[in-house]
Amino acid sequence: MDWTPEQISELTRLWGEGLTTAEIGKRLGISKNAVVGKAHRLHLPARPSPIKRTGPRPQIFRQTAASRPSQPSAPRLPQAPREPRVATAAQQTSAAALKALANQPSAKRLPMMALSASTCRWPIGDPGDADFHFCGERSLEGKPYCSAHASIAYVKMKPKTEAA
Ligand SMILES: [Zn+2]
Repeated sequence: MDWTPEQISELTRLWGEGLTTAEIGKRLGISKNAVVGKAHRLHLPARPSPIKRTGPRPQIFRQTAASRPSQPSAPRLPQAPREPRVATAAQQTSAAALKALANQPSAKRLPMMALSASTCRWPIGDPGDADFHFCGERSLEGKPYCSAHASIAYVKMKPKTEAA
């Protein structure tokens, strides 16, 4: 811009008064940068009393914790290896279920000599075994076995004498 002598004198005066460059520019109707540039070219002296900015400097807050992601995602723990499936007890015994039924140990575990006419003489276990014994439960009337063993013994033969 073209500075008029009046503007230069005004600039020099206002500069000497210590006005801010922005204020000087406003008074002269020019930009602040024009004031600064002209003052520099005029070799205007440093301000006698540098204007201290009244307001506090704008604090530049470092965005630290606030801007960070709330929490780093926790690393996923590796899944524990699944335990190998163990055959259930039911599966293990299913094959021998029928045999186990027939050889189910009796609470009485009567030896042969203790058998009587009213005791089930269903053999349980191997006769050569020390664990061999007889059922010993109360036998059905007219039958050598208890009801449970009778159902096994006579499963294939319908006793005609049942009614008798
Ligand atoms: Zn029995």
